[in-house]
Amino acid sequence: MVKIGLEVHVAISNVKTKMFCGCVNNVVAEPNTNVCPTCMGMPGSKPRINKAVIDSAIKISIALNCKVRNKMFFSRKSYFYNDMAKNFQISQYEVPLAENGIVEIDSKKIRIRRVHMEEDPGKIIHIGGGIINADYTLIDYNRSGVPLCEIVTQPDFETPKQAREFLDKISSVLEYLEVYNALREGALRVDANISTSGERVEIKNISGFRDVEKALQYEITRQENMTRRGQQIIQETRTWDSGSNTTKLLRKKEHEEDYGYITENDLPMITIKQSRLDEIKKQIPEMAPEKVKRYQKQYRISKETAISIAHDPFLAEMFEQVVKKTDPEITGKIFAGVLLKTLNYNNIRIQQTNIRAEDILDILEKLEKKQITERVAELALRKIAEGKNTEKFLRDMDTISDKKQLKDIIKIVLKKNIKAVNDVKSGKPEAMNFLLGQVMKETKNRADQKTVREIIEKYIEK
Ligand SMILES: [Zn+2]
Repeated sequence: MVKIGLEVHVAISNVKTKMFCGCVNNVVAEPNTNVCPTCMGMPGSKPRINKAVIDSAIKISIALNCKVRNKMFFSRKSYFYNDMAKNFQISQYEVPLAENGIVEIDSKKIRIRRVHMEEDPGKIIHIGGGIINADYTLIDYNRSGVPLCEIVTQPDFETPKQAREFLDKISSVLEYLEVYNALREGALRVDANISTSGERVEIKNISGFRDVEKALQYEITRQENMTRRGQQIIQETRTWDSGSNTTKLLRKKEHEEDYGYITENDLPMITIKQSRLDEIKKQIPEMAPEKVKRYQKQYRISKETAISIAHDPFLAEMFEQVVKKTDPEITGKIFAGVLLKTLNYNNIRIQQTNIRAEDILDILEKLEKKQITERVAELALRKIAEGKNTEKFLRDMDTISDKKQLKDIIKIVLKKNIKAVNDVKSGKPEAMNFLLGQVMKETKNRADQKTVREIIEKYIEK
């Protein structure tokens, strides 16, 4: 039986400074310029806690239905590795920030074991090869000390697909909470553990949800093949190589106790009062599941459409700006059917484009007034989503309102396609679609489909 657990590292983006020093919480800078003695781990430097990080982590914990501890402390995790200059990482081990949460995905409930805070190590860049065979390695400490929130699940996933579903869900939750920037490099990194028959194998540091799914799928096949050959699966840590789409052995697994945690006595014990929890609870906005329910009720759009839109807070925000002034059904269809698909196809998010609510409104208004056809509206939205200007495109795209002009075009198309006309007569519906397509092509999509169909039918009856 396949058992999968995830450890999700979230880079907290809504705090100005790093976790234990005054350096800016920004990894995009010349390498090793956004650093100070504390985040470089110089002897004698002392950490001080950034309270805003705790607030963000509490927000995450509450949103994941966890129980937040009222007293906690930080520990030093022995970590003899070059991306952590002081040779230990400040983390939480014995007492995490929060525990025992639940996250529902489509197919099941996933239990959250714990949520804790820790600092990010620096970034290692291998030159001339991968992690195992590089010529040399560069280290950028700009990331060292960036605040992380780690979400650890129970091994409740049975398939790689469920793991990916969970990550999609978590990412949406974090965006709604405004604690995370999905576009930031390494914003969400995952360690996955998986067992198929015997020992647990851990796959470290996978970024990209699709890669998590692929890595887990690879590992299932690898372990099943080993079992079939009578080989024993041993507990180990592996790394995902997205170039070759394989996992590779990193080291024989150490146990969590092997890290030799000791208390971080340079930081005080932290007490979290109920009033602070209540205050943070109030800041949690309306989340996707509630939005879905409201959209169905308020705008009478389908559940499926509502889910597609509400999943992305940026898309949902724009939808709500537009839908107030237009027909909700058409708006829902346009957002979920055209806009979202185009964005996904181009692999961009709406906040990365110049799309404004006014542009979409403009097109929808034209559509409602039947100045443009549905197809032209679709094409225009696609252009907007791809960052192109639509003013010129729309100028020549008014629906053909002159029936005589339309009839003339249709006559020519029918004359050119006698075979299709005969096929329609002998009852082949796909021939009708072909003729419709030809007329749309001839009119550059400026003809109303319904009218065209009516005219064609009339001509063919004769
Ligand atoms: Zn610093």
